[in-house]
Amino acid sequence: MPVLIDKEICNGCGECVDACPGDLLAIDKTEGTAVLRYPDDCWHCLSCMKACPFGAIELLLPYVVALRGARLTVNYDEREVEWQLHLPDGNTLKLKRQTQSEFESKEARTNG
Ligand code: SF4
Ligand code: SF4
Repeated sequence: MPVLIDKEICNGCGECVDACPGDLLAIDKTEGTAVLRYPDDCWHCLSCMKACPFGAIELLLPYVVALRGARLTVNYDEREVEWQLHLPDGNTLKLKRQTQSEFESKEARTNG
């Protein structure tokens, strides 16, 4: 199952298009939103999800990875990445990690 784009949230900024290493995404000029041109070629690298500033892209996880119907979303800024695993029972598991740039700037402050 490839990534899903919420057309109600997407504003056509194009960040995901630039982020996709396979050039699978494009902006639909008629609708002004992103479209996954080659869904079968999406290999779930999640780059587009991290790049989207508005959280408009999510991934339905295969049942072998999580419970059937589980969804993965992400909030991302310069300092932190927060992955959210939405379970079918309504619970959400969150995984937070500092970004590489935040890690490097902390290292520089410590060593400088
Ligand atoms: S998950 Fe990766 S391969 Fe799939 S559309 Fe997004 S950036 Fe492209
Ligand atoms: S980055 Fe998000 S808001 Fe921008 S075009 Fe892609 S899906 Fe739409």
